[in-house]
Amino acid sequence: MKSIQEALTAMMPAFEPLGVERVSLSEALGRNAGQDVRAKSSLPPFSNSAMDGYAVRAEDLTGASEDDPRRLPLVGESRAGGDAPGTLAPGSTMRIFTGARIPAAADTVVPQEDAEKTEAGIDFRRAPSAGAHVRAEGSDLAEGDVMVPAGASIGPGEIGLLAAQRISALTVYRRPRVAILSTGDELRDISEPEEPGTIVNSNAYALSAQIRAAGGLPQIIPNVPDALDQTVEQVRAGLDADLLITCGGVSVGDYDLVKEAFDTNGIDASFWKVRVKPGKPLTFGRHGKTPVVGLPGNPVSAMVTFETFVRPGLRRMLGDPRPYRTAHEVVLTHPHRHSKGRPELARARVRRVGDRLEATMHRLQGSGSLPSMVGIDALVLLAAEVDHFSAGTKLQAILLRDEHGSETPPFDA
Ligand code: AMP
Ligand code: MG
Repeated sequence: MKSIQEALTAMMPAFEPLGVERVSLSEALGRNAGQDVRAKSSLPPFSNSAMDGYAVRAEDLTGASEDDPRRLPLVGESRAGGDAPGTLAPGSTMRIFTGARIPAAADTVVPQEDAEKTEAGIDFRRAPSAGAHVRAEGSDLAEGDVMVPAGASIGPGEIGLLAAQRISALTVYRRPRVAILSTGDELRDISEPEEPGTIVNSNAYALSAQIRAAGGLPQIIPNVPDALDQTVEQVRAGLDADLLITCGGVSVGDYDLVKEAFDTNGIDASFWKVRVKPGKPLTFGRHGKTPVVGLPGNPVSAMVTFETFVRPGLRRMLGDPRPYRTAHEVVLTHPHRHSKGRPELARARVRRVGDRLEATMHRLQGSGSLPSMVGIDALVLLAAEVDHFSAGTKLQAILLRDEHGSETPPFDA
């Protein structure tokens, strides 16, 4: 039997980053940059004021104080989006507004609260430090600076910055098309009539959602009964995708035909038992450059093995340089038992309490118990050789979503 690590080590090289494509900026959210994106021009593009106030030469106000104010004549105005303000003559000041160009020869902005307007000019009762409240051209970014490195995920901040740089389209990694093929005589779609002994092909929906959440494009292949020729045919159909996932039919039951269907299609597949619960039977192979993964059919096993063994590969195909989730330490809130033998990825709800993450196990942990995938936000690793975990035990976990949400505002400030 392979360990989780061994299985990943064998699989990951097959998931090579796909090619790149150009997308418009508005379509780039959540994608990974296909190359370094560099600044086209300096930012800010021109020196401008960070405050509403008065543009001055700091040297004109040297020594200004309450007792010894300086009065400068007001010689003009610079507004955001307005005409070029010209050069500030020595010994004068210009009205200026936030975002407006700094007049040539001015080096400092005095906020209007620190100045007093009189009939004769503007009085300054304090000497500003040179450069104050000026957002200097190029102080955030110089032309050619890498703004977004290749592989980085494009979020709202990246989109804002790229827009500020007049970058309206960019190169991102292509999203993998992931074919899903479910097998089993008992499977029906939601839209089909209920029949005794049948169940809904819920895995097609759950896996599609996992694929989409990871950044892939799911393509559902019509599911097949436990019949070899149809399985062979639909496996072949799935090989057009960038990645093929099958579910069900990979254990050793009489009707488990996936292995034969892979062989017939020339998929060079290894059938493993992986030391993990839920999961165990897992198939992995390649057809040319296309990775093929056979997941177990049990709904929880399918989702947990997707999360553990497929999602990292899918993220890698998307160019993500950090395709794995991070392990976090969690503390059990209640005692928990599991049966010894295999490491288990138990489903839990995790909440941050003070400086620690507290994990409460779902009451259902069976590999077919789909409700155990609802309302949870972590998979907690339970060591194979331990059967009883007392409350307060520290364990490793991956968080399935970054954001838990909170009923109260985050900052007491
Ligand atoms: P198998 O891996 O084919 O032996 O299936 C194991 C269990 O998972 C059986 O109870 C199946 O009915 C169930 N199952 C298999 N495929 C699916 C599916 N696509 N959706 C929901 N349940 C499934
Ligand atoms: Mg089956």
